[in-house]
Amino acid sequence: MSSARESPDKATANNPLKHPNSRIAVLTSHFTATMSSEKDAALAAAAAPPPADSPTIFDKIINKEIPAKVVYEDDKVLAFRDISPQAPTHILLIPKIKDGLTGLSQAEERHCEILGQLLYAAKLVAKQEGLEDGFRVVINDGPDGSQSVYHLHLHLLGGRQMNWPPG
Ligand code: AMP
Repeated sequence: MSSARESPDKATANNPLKHPNSRIAVLTSHFTATMSSEKDAALAAAAAPPPADSPTIFDKIINKEIPAKVVYEDDKVLAFRDISPQAPTHILLIPKIKDGLTGLSQAEERHCEILGQLLYAAKLVAKQEGLEDGFRVVINDGPDGSQSVYHLHLHLLGGRQMNWPPG
């Protein structure tokens, strides 16, 4: 006689999300771990927000004090590969001069030019990276936006199908 409900062991064996050796389970666990570490970093940053013009890790990259895989540079914008990629292509684009732009929420009218340059550079880099089938540009802002580095940056993500809504 078969029971309407499976035993936990059988349910686990039949569920690729729960089976510890399945590729989906491994990917799911990696995804969840990455998501929570990103969120933890954002919460830690929010718990002790830096003063508006204090240097961040991105200043060290701009000043070449730490290495980065730079993929694009002009007089105003620097683009480099994210150290913890969330897609086959994951590039950060930042203004070389922060000018108070710790995040998009701090933008003022004087920033319109650099904001446009960042977006246009994202398009150039997407083309350079061969993202003909599309891409996504993300700006995380503040604690609710899971921002962890307080120097405005665009995430350029591509090379896989993106989902909506985002996490
Ligand atoms: P956000 O959470 O929107 O503030 O994004 C900050 C991003 O910076 C994260 O995706 C990090 O992986 C990335 N990041 C942090 N440090 C570095 C680094 N040294 N080089 C490249 N990317 C970095």
